[in-house]
Amino acid sequence: MKLDPNILRELSKKDLALQELRAIREEIPKKKRDRELIIENLKEKFIEQEESLKEKQKASDSSDLDLKDFEERINKLLIQRNLAKSNPEMAAFNHQIALLNEKKSTLETSILMGMEQVDKQLAEINETSNQVLKAEEDFIAFSEEVDGEYEKATRQLEAEEKACADLLESIDSDIVKQYQRILKHTGDTAIAEVEGNICLGCGMGVRAQTLNELLACNDVVICQTCQRILILSEEEAAKYC
Ligand SMILES: [Zn+2]
Repeated sequence: MKLDPNILRELSKKDLALQELRAIREEIPKKKRDRELIIENLKEKFIEQEESLKEKQKASDSSDLDLKDFEERINKLLIQRNLAKSNPEMAAFNHQIALLNEKKSTLETSILMGMEQVDKQLAEINETSNQVLKAEEDFIAFSEEVDGEYEKATRQLEAEEKACADLLESIDSDIVKQYQRILKHTGDTAIAEVEGNICLGCGMGVRAQTLNELLACNDVVICQTCQRILILSEEEAAKYC
């Protein structure tokens, strides 16, 4: 039977369009998920930073208590020193007071450093919180945009599938079966163009005899390598016909 290469060419275009539309529909949920993961990670970071802040504040509170304790002990020693009855006794108190003052001073330095750390942690938490808000806002805007694209691709896909089915109805049922079998096998396109003796489906060369069969347009010609139905590209067809 005489094959109309134009119908096959049209079908091949539909195959590619369907493939592209399906890829768009697969890609969009993935892209959304990626952004959701970024938000989830930021939220986790926020929680970790809050935990760390709590630890630092706890340490700072405990140091404040220690400082108070030092101050009380020093005050007590000062009173005792004022009541000292001898110079050696006073010297002993002075020595104890000096030691405690030294420890107190070290503690004060560490408290100051701790306060700096708390401030730093607070700033980091604030930054992460802003990042979460920004990422969530961006996600809403991104979703609106891609949801629109998804719907559009879905509508186009339905239209292309319908057009594809209509085209298949105009082809001999044996060829349709063959086409569907190849499509299932390749997973993308069942028809490949030949250009410059090369099958564009697999990139391999086709034999001269295959090319002659194609020119005769008498039967379905299959690529020996990728098993797709071959057609001449429009350029190639113009060259020969
Ligand atoms: Zn091939």
